[in-house]
Amino acid sequence: MKKAAIIGAGVGGIATAIRLAKKGYDVSVFESNSYPGGKLSQLKSDKFRFDAGPSLFTMPELVDELFLLSGKNPTDFFSYQRLDETCRYFFDDGTVLNGFSDPTNFAKEASSKTSVKSKDVLKHLKQSKFIYDSTAFLFLRKSLHKCKSYLSLKVLWAFIKLPFLHIFSSMNAVNTKALKDDKMVQLFNRFATYNGSDPFKAPGILNIIPHLEFNKGAYFPDNGMYSISSSLYDLALSMGVSFHFDSKVDEIIVEGSSAQGVSINSQLFTADLVVCNIDVHFVYQHLLPKIKKPKRILQQERSSSALIYYWGVNGEFPDLDLHNIFFSSNYEKEFEYLSNKNKIYQDPTVYVNITAKKNKSDAPEKHENWFVMINVPSNENQDWEKLIAEARVNIIRKLNKVLKVDLESLIVFEEILEPRTIESKTGSYKGSLYGTASNNKMSAFFRHPNFSSDISNLYFCGGSVHPGGGIPLALSSAKIVADLIKQVK
Ligand code: FAD
Repeated sequence: MKKAAIIGAGVGGIATAIRLAKKGYDVSVFESNSYPGGKLSQLKSDKFRFDAGPSLFTMPELVDELFLLSGKNPTDFFSYQRLDETCRYFFDDGTVLNGFSDPTNFAKEASSKTSVKSKDVLKHLKQSKFIYDSTAFLFLRKSLHKCKSYLSLKVLWAFIKLPFLHIFSSMNAVNTKALKDDKMVQLFNRFATYNGSDPFKAPGILNIIPHLEFNKGAYFPDNGMYSISSSLYDLALSMGVSFHFDSKVDEIIVEGSSAQGVSINSQLFTADLVVCNIDVHFVYQHLLPKIKKPKRILQQERSSSALIYYWGVNGEFPDLDLHNIFFSSNYEKEFEYLSNKNKIYQDPTVYVNITAKKNKSDAPEKHENWFVMINVPSNENQDWEKLIAEARVNIIRKLNKVLKVDLESLIVFEEILEPRTIESKTGSYKGSLYGTASNNKMSAFFRHPNFSSDISNLYFCGGSVHPGGGIPLALSSAKIVADLIKQVK
């Protein structure tokens, strides 16, 4: 039986393992942590459970597809519900806007709480769908680095539509022109942070992202975000995939110009092909030290990182929902600070996710589990102890003001995740959440391909390579990789 070795048990690595097992490979996954999931894991104390990383779940069909491919009924393993309200937005002047996932309801709500016209919101969401329909089949489902991906009339048609896809204007410029209301521009600019980019630099084509949340919908898994990776892990096990935890790969074995296996603690594991699910930067830095590095790809700007406080809170907050966003009063200034490596913004946009709103067992009675996150620059050896302490004061001051509470006195549990620990726990270079940033017009083409052009039998999946970061894209990368690999006869 042909053997495949996968380095990393992030969601992209597990999805690739399932697809290759289905193709007839004997698949082994090597993971440096003692648990699966990578960024999509969980944190548990004796009283509280937190999803450690992602909180927003779109395109659940990509998870279902893996169960269906394996001949299983998805709902026997994994269940989720569509959210009627994706996010609740709190603005500095006291305006609270409910982000209904139904476009018509959202447009109505937006026009009643801001100066935007309902028809302009609907038109903007239609434009977002147009970008998705024009590009997703190429950018999300195919390797951009194989000539045959471009050989179709559909692709030619997509290139003809390029001038209408806002590649040459920034997201902020497109949103300002379309919505003409500061709050709504801020709300739509926020979608740049879904891949760690800056709306004042990132191209308007990234306005594809709101389509996923509003038109296609946002979802929440019944057993929390972690159940995405844990149920896929169970599926992979049921298909005969073997997982090796506490197994940090220290080298990819290359003979001639072909990948022959991996080495773990100097022990060789031979394989017919190797798939890397880890940050591509570390692949070249540590695992392929003798191979020429693709400098242009590796020198690109990193996406932003995050500072997260996991707080067990004594109290219940009826004004808050599952996902809440407390905007900064000056978003443009906040992004200036995000590119300033040594400072953090005094009035940051704060994301508060409370899974106990849907899943009561995540916190004891009359308590809530708050995942409190701000965007911060990736790690450049800043004085993180100082920045983390400062940010904590700023966040608590901001939330106290809006919620009219003394939050400090209600915090009964605290853990912190920050750029340095994101790097050490998930192997992400500089703690970036989404690999490289998408601030450049051509960044979609500059991501590392899903295969090596120098070494045969070597492939790449996950958030640091094509098509990009985030759960749906990491799952899509697994599909692209599997499509590049032949079925075992
Ligand atoms: P990763 O999760 O990056 O896992 C890689 C694995 O490789 C890790 O388990 C690591 O331990 C292992 N590894 C590294 N080096 C080695 C080695 N040498 N040998 C063996 N194993 C190794 N996405 C969304 O869609 N929605 C969100 O709301 C969202 N929010 C986020 C919030 C945070 C705080 C974070 C951190 C991420 C968020 N993301 C979100 C992004 C999303 O989590 C990632 O894009 C996705 O989970 C990445 O999956 P991956 O397949 O690239 O693997």
